[in-house]
Amino acid sequence: MAEKVECAKCTKIVCYSKSFLEGSSNCPTKTRQEVIQQALAEYNKPEVREFARQASIQEFECYMNLPEGMTPRHPRVEEIAQFAKKMGYKKLGIASCIGLRHEAETLTTILENRGFDVVSICCKAGAIPKERIGITENQKIKGPGSFESMCNPITQAEILNDEGVEFNILVGLCVGHDSLFFKYAHAPVTVLVAKDRVFGHNPVMGLYLSGSYYRKLLRKESLDS
Ligand code: SF4
Repeated sequence: MAEKVECAKCTKIVCYSKSFLEGSSNCPTKTRQEVIQQALAEYNKPEVREFARQASIQEFECYMNLPEGMTPRHPRVEEIAQFAKKMGYKKLGIASCIGLRHEAETLTTILENRGFDVVSICCKAGAIPKERIGITENQKIKGPGSFESMCNPITQAEILNDEGVEFNILVGLCVGHDSLFFKYAHAPVTVLVAKDRVFGHNPVMGLYLSGSYYRKLLRKESLDS
């Protein structure tokens, strides 16, 4: 097996150019050519190639070359609407957290104003008690004895599958619940809002502050502790 792939620790980024052979000894552009070629073959499928092509055009259109320098121009919500239109989608699905219902409503308005047919489904749909998946009284957010509906991402995915949506947009699903939605959704999924209860759904802030106010994020722990 080749050396472990660690692009996140790369100190000589050459994959951005044609001189990739000058990369480090564990650079996957050099060491993982077989996998790269296998993956590349997927783009020969017309629907995959077209999806990737439109995504790259969307990326291109998000910059302006102004005299003072390259400048970004579209917020993500705008990008999602533009990309869905490029792909020719008519029917979109929103899978949202109940805690972000107002954001889901605003997103619906934005997309409907652009002409899309929008189906939305809340994480608590089904009103299934958390006991169904083994949550104990002490693990309820509102405390023992309360009724709590479980987050139900598989139902969210299946209802949007059943509605025949062509593209799914996640709004604030929890860590892990979002993973189940990705696993069960038939149509492609993009994320508008990644839930972060502390940083106003801007999770990268945890990384930015890990050198100062949130340096506790860098503490060392073992997986057994
Ligand atoms: S692909 Fe190679 S050059 Fe690019 S970031 Fe990874 S290790 Fe660095």
